[in-house]
Amino acid sequence: MQEKVGPLIRNWKKRNIEGIFCQDKDQAHRLILDLIPQEASVGFSGSQTLEELEVIEMLQSRGNKVFDQYDQNLSRDESMRTRRLGAQADYFLTSANAISQNGEMVFFSAWGHRIAGIADAKHVIVVAGLNKITPNLEKAMERARNYATPLNCKRLKWDTPCLRAGVCKNAECLAPEYVRMCCQVLVIEAEVAAGRMTVILIGENLGF
Ligand code: SF4
Repeated sequence: MQEKVGPLIRNWKKRNIEGIFCQDKDQAHRLILDLIPQEASVGFSGSQTLEELEVIEMLQSRGNKVFDQYDQNLSRDESMRTRRLGAQADYFLTSANAISQNGEMVFFSAWGHRIAGIADAKHVIVVAGLNKITPNLEKAMERARNYATPLNCKRLKWDTPCLRAGVCKNAECLAPEYVRMCCQVLVIEAEVAAGRMTVILIGENLGF
């Protein structure tokens, strides 16, 4: 594990991204709550990793303004509006679909608010388990398409070709037959502003 983590955190530093290693979920949970001030607003994208960390509920219960697009009381229009507001929050929380050992991070999105939040929010915190690390960017893209997205389609009951085949069928995944889940792809290579993006790498397998 150490042979992966140390070099990856150094690679992020060269890319103006702060990488912090946490041994486990509990440590990561505490760190997220320390990094985000209580008066800050928070947006997030749906993620198995964030669900496993149970951090969104904790932020809500301690009084942060959380833009929760999944609130059952919202109409579809309100949910879409909440996604947009979340992308402009003080902090945007997300996980990555895959991370290359060189430090590039791959994010897929259906609606685009995830991409908007990661690209433009004032502060971004990416949380990921060690299982997201791949040897290079090519393998990271492959992981996102052929492993992470099929499992996300299954989790969210999204009827796509990869749900049936278990791997991406990019050329088939088009309207009108299908509503594609990975419509937008973002690769973060580096940051201009130091301090905007923090990655919390957890020494466990989390999410897909
Ligand atoms: S393009 Fe379609 S088939 Fe391929 S991973 Fe995305 S949702 Fe699945």
